[in-house]
Amino acid sequence: MPELPEVEVTRRRIEPLLVGRRIRKVHTTEPSYLFITPPNQLRRSLSGRTVGALARRGKYLIAVLDDGSRFVVHRGMTGQLFSESAVSPRLMSSTARSALSPEAQQRFRPDAHTHLRICFEDAGPEVLLRDVRKFGKLMWLRAGEEHPRLDRLGIDALEIGGEVLFAAGRKRKTAIKNLLLDQSVLAGMGNIYADEALFLTGVRPTRAAGRVTRRECDRLAQTIRQVLGRSIETGGASIRDYVTPDGSDGGYQFERWVYARKGEPCGQCGETIRRIVLGQRGTHYCPSCQK
Ligand SMILES: [Zn+2]
Repeated sequence: MPELPEVEVTRRRIEPLLVGRRIRKVHTTEPSYLFITPPNQLRRSLSGRTVGALARRGKYLIAVLDDGSRFVVHRGMTGQLFSESAVSPRLMSSTARSALSPEAQQRFRPDAHTHLRICFEDAGPEVLLRDVRKFGKLMWLRAGEEHPRLDRLGIDALEIGGEVLFAAGRKRKTAIKNLLLDQSVLAGMGNIYADEALFLTGVRPTRAAGRVTRRECDRLAQTIRQVLGRSIETGGASIRDYVTPDGSDGGYQFERWVYARKGEPCGQCGETIRRIVLGQRGTHYCPSCQK
């Protein structure tokens, strides 16, 4: 799932493919729960506009258009945002891939999962959005229009401080891992990075948030910022569907300590990494290093 680092890497790399370009035409698939703004309205609202800036809030990408309106993209579980020149086996279903010659696999062809194609006035590449499971969200907001999805977001996880975590932990009776995934506390935080930051801080994911000390909250906040920053440096984590806008993989999946390492020895103490389900999310930890 694209989380803060993957969304930020996408923002930085897709920005030159969007900003300053005038949109000629937009193609979409039929109405579905992916489209908060109906696709025909979305196509009309984007056509003829020029993208002025590309911002990020938590896991949302926000394109600010020249009429002050905003196009907001959340990629959900499997959303991929990329240039038409991108090449990656992650951009094709395995059945589609097996039917093609190796040369044909080198070029992306829009398929049934390609829900958005943005074509520009200039001759440069199209920008596409593909989402196999359609848990992503696309919406267009008029100039000045607010939306609860954006309004309810907490502080950006790259800017989190220990005092915010500590205060939030006093208010909620929940496990610390669930608190970290609450987007109204920490916008952009996701499963991989919560597991990694808790491991590096020595705090067990199941511990009640109210029992994490102020000092641990300070260390946890600092670790979260470091883990997210490091993942951005490596291009994000490509574990399943995520590719960068040019089709290349990120590199953070090679650096993780516990996430998706069930049954492997802990890199710090050798104890076996465990996996449990917490708040409906797979959760990984070392029973010896984390208390
Ligand atoms: Zn350990």
